[in-house]
Amino acid sequence: DTTVDFPLQVEGLHKSFGGITAVDGASFEVEAGTLTGLIGPNGAGKSTTFNLITGMLKPDSGTVTFNGEDITGEEPHEIANRGMVRTFQIARELSDMTVLENMMLAPKHQRGEELWRSVMPGVRDDVREQEEELLERVWAVLDFFDIDHIAEEYAGNLSGGQRKLLEMARALLTDPDMLLLDEPFAGVNPTLEKKLLKHIHELREQGYTFLLVEHDMDLIMNNCEHVIVLHQGKVLTEGTPDDIRSNEEVIEAYLGG
Ligand code: ADP
Ligand code: MG
Repeated sequence: DTTVDFPLQVEGLHKSFGGITAVDGASFEVEAGTLTGLIGPNGAGKSTTFNLITGMLKPDSGTVTFNGEDITGEEPHEIANRGMVRTFQIARELSDMTVLENMMLAPKHQRGEELWRSVMPGVRDDVREQEEELLERVWAVLDFFDIDHIAEEYAGNLSGGQRKLLEMARALLTDPDMLLLDEPFAGVNPTLEKKLLKHIHELREQGYTFLLVEHDMDLIMNNCEHVIVLHQGKVLTEGTPDDIRSNEEVIEAYLGG
């Protein structure tokens, strides 16, 4: 069953903005339990593809299949509910809330919504246990990302790096099967980049599937087992980092823009 081996399948995606074709028939699959990189020069259509997969944009044509089900055109929260999440930058309003409060908000409209409702007033006794489970999970995830000691800190006071960790922690709280990250290392210093990568590798070993969208080719080459190269809205080639590194077309695409 290929849908188990390849939870994400993208087939013939097209998206234009006015006269500009951003995605021009992109097709690819992401294998379960891998750290797969989607790379390409600026303007290749990476972010648009990312937004089409996660429901932020609707494709003009083509399909997105997740765990064997057609999710094309679904809303982001519906897709998140299915177990495919993306990270979100922490909005300005959430800066006035603590790290812990940010974490408690994360499940809203997502898998944990039932749990979240269960901690609201008027809760029935039979959901007490679920409330405890949610809090336990919040603390476990904060601990995993080494941000449990700043749980009471306002999100607005966090360093850029701590903010990235919180963004990933929030995404993970819903216990997704797959995480999509669009340039997660942009503006991140080398020390934190290492730390973030360490966490990503640990999660992949636990069985999570990652699609990492990045402009930085070296970063992807050193960390992903499978690399898909997007160029002018299409898949130019894909393979192992070694395949990609020695591919003349890829070198040309990056040099030629
Ligand atoms: P990448 O992330 O690989 O740099 P994008 O997906 O952001 O590429 O952009 C692909 C192409 O689509 C670019 O030419 C970009 O200018 C164009 N584009 C992306 N989003 C929009 C938009 N909302 N309106 C108009 N053009 C867009
Ligand atoms: Mg982009």
